[in-house]
Amino acid sequence: AGISYADLENIKVLGHGNGGTVYKVRHKRTDKIYALKVFHGDTDATVRRQVFREMEILRRTDSPHTVKCHGTFEMPSGDMAILMEYMDAGTLETLLRRDGTFSESKLRNVASQILKGLNYLHSIKIIHRDIKPSNLLVDRKMSIKISDFGVSKIMCRTLDPCNSYVGTCAYMSPERFDPDSYGGSYNGYAGDIWSLGLTLLELYLGHFPFLQPGQRPDWATLMCAICFGDPPGLPDGASEEFRSFIECCLQKESNKRWTASELLNHPFLCKDPRSDR
Ligand code: ADP
Ligand code: MG
Repeated sequence: AGISYADLENIKVLGHGNGGTVYKVRHKRTDKIYALKVFHGDTDATVRRQVFREMEILRRTDSPHTVKCHGTFEMPSGDMAILMEYMDAGTLETLLRRDGTFSESKLRNVASQILKGLNYLHSIKIIHRDIKPSNLLVDRKMSIKISDFGVSKIMCRTLDPCNSYVGTCAYMSPERFDPDSYGGSYNGYAGDIWSLGLTLLELYLGHFPFLQPGQRPDWATLMCAICFGDPPGLPDGASEEFRSFIECCLQKESNKRWTASELLNHPFLCKDPRSDR
């Protein structure tokens, strides 16, 4: 028994984005709450392509660490919508703004869940390409799920670095700007690990690592910092394990970066939680 669009009642807007709006909705017959991502039919071909890709990826994925899809709709008006499970604590971005910076032990839990999700996606040849705090959904039990597959890629046998200029620039890895210098062999999966490293660092520091607190992003400066500067790292006071973990994510050369499955065995994640600072 599928859920029909007519049975859904709008409660409120959860978020806006590129071409779409996400609503909190109630299924009238069961009283269940869902999230509905709606795209308007008058959007251009690029957006429509993204919507179909997002629907296709959600159809293929089934993991406790990727958002669950309960159906997709295409209306006669051309509007399209994706019905998802509702994550009742918002995103890691909302948590950062509401509760302030994350401790190491909180980040250990966060990192391990995101890595399980990435390890799953990479194992079925999906590159997310837009890992950042606002695309990582959270519920009240601190379960974390990867979402927003609008610019993700399903890998075929051939790699096409030319098609790699998507996602949020700020979280993009050096090899995505300049594959020849930082790629060795271009490996799209490693880009997700870079973005994960920046995300964890941002949650720890409370601001985007390449910018000072409150500094406005200037894209040219940011791109230079990503490509020509040293990768950002942790301030004094962080544990050695955490420092090493971040370094393994933020290697500028993509082939030196650890993979998701390697990182799942990193000492930072295996450390005894009782010995926490
Ligand atoms: P966009 O492509 O516009 O970034 P997202 O899928 O990232 O779209 O959704 C935008 C915002 O809507 C998210 O940052 C989050 O705040 C909210 N949101 C999206 N999906 C859900 C969900 N399943 N549960 C709760 N909030 C959600
Ligand atoms: Mg998003």
